[in-house]
Amino acid sequence: MTSNNGKSTLKIKTRQPAPSPGTSTVSVHGNRAENPYHAVAEPIVQTATYTFKDTADLSEFMEARLWGQENGRQEYGRYGNPTVRAAEQRLAALEGAGDAILFSSGMAAITTTLLAMLPTGTHIVITDDCYRRTREFCLTFLKRLGIGCTVVPAGDYDALEDAIQANTRILVSELPTNPYLRVLDIDRLVEIAKTKRVKTFIDATFATPLNLKPLDWGVDLVVHSATKYLAGHNDLLAGVVAGEAGLIASLRNALGVFGAVSDPQNAALLLRGLKTLGLRIAQQNQSGQAVAEYLESHPLIERVWYPGLASHPDHQHAVRQLTGFGGVISFTVKGDLTTTSRFIDALQIPLIAASLGGTESLVEQPALMSYYELSTEERLAVGIPNNLVRLSLGIEDTADLIADLQQALDAIA
Ligand code: PLP
Repeated sequence: MTSNNGKSTLKIKTRQPAPSPGTSTVSVHGNRAENPYHAVAEPIVQTATYTFKDTADLSEFMEARLWGQENGRQEYGRYGNPTVRAAEQRLAALEGAGDAILFSSGMAAITTTLLAMLPTGTHIVITDDCYRRTREFCLTFLKRLGIGCTVVPAGDYDALEDAIQANTRILVSELPTNPYLRVLDIDRLVEIAKTKRVKTFIDATFATPLNLKPLDWGVDLVVHSATKYLAGHNDLLAGVVAGEAGLIASLRNALGVFGAVSDPQNAALLLRGLKTLGLRIAQQNQSGQAVAEYLESHPLIERVWYPGLASHPDHQHAVRQLTGFGGVISFTVKGDLTTTSRFIDALQIPLIAASLGGTESLVEQPALMSYYELSTEERLAVGIPNNLVRLSLGIEDTADLIADLQQALDAIA
């Protein structure tokens, strides 16, 4: 397991499970600290600021920080917190990263990282099938700051290469993408980026470190909406960025300025969620495949997008790169907006809600939820038809989920 030996600002004595633990072991024990009071669970250090014994103590701390040394303590809550740090170290271990930073949400992780890395006059390339707010941030807010953005179709590597300019700094993509679960060829992406000397930034929220560790493939930065699978219980918002320690140290500096920090209660909940990550993902991978196969065989379903199906355009990349295909399935129902809504309304187990990756199955009709404010023409232009459904499977019994889908499809037959 990669340990956190980076230049971050707080050192915690850690113990390493030996010899080369699996991801589930790491999600429970990775970079585990020797906790105060011999506590098994990571303590919640609920404080906004920290005291110094005297001014000499303060000077020693300041001097160490000036030289980028970890010295086991903090100055102020926006610059660090022991509970948050424990979560960061666990996440870094899970990703095999030099270090990681926890943010208040996935969008905070994305916006802080991109703002910190992109001076005015630079440019990024982003693939088209990705979270709508990420695209909006790049196309609207970065552009306002004089940072150019070119959107290329996911999976079109010639377009990707052609879009890179002399001032391009970062390639931004998701893996798998949202909502069509496109799986990019990472080797090809990384090769293009390295040849053109640009950094790669992959949002792997849908994969989790159980199914893919992008850093192992040569990606520079991996980001997650930890709100989803990592926390896993639909009860908190968080985001994480992980990568090489030097790069993360410069981003941490930006976090101290922008201020989108996570808080200790949130970090403790996230740590608890992480401990069952392996169990949850195993169940969600297994249910995902079974439900996708069931839907694909149903006469009232028009099309299913799931990387574990041979019919998915990126199935080959998925098989080569992912160790599981996840719990999100997108599909179109045979029928119009209303028929699709009737099907969703007939479901008994999945709750109608935005988000994904938690213990409860959630379902949404993107035309009525995440893309509601777009006109039908605008929505169709970005590939979101009226009859599209995104289903995020929780950890309910697979047989119950399939029986529920069956009765809901019977209701629109
Ligand atoms: N990235 C992806 C792939 C997402 O699906 C989302 C949210 O749905 C985000 C980022 C944003 O995360 P958050 O809601 O935690 O800000």
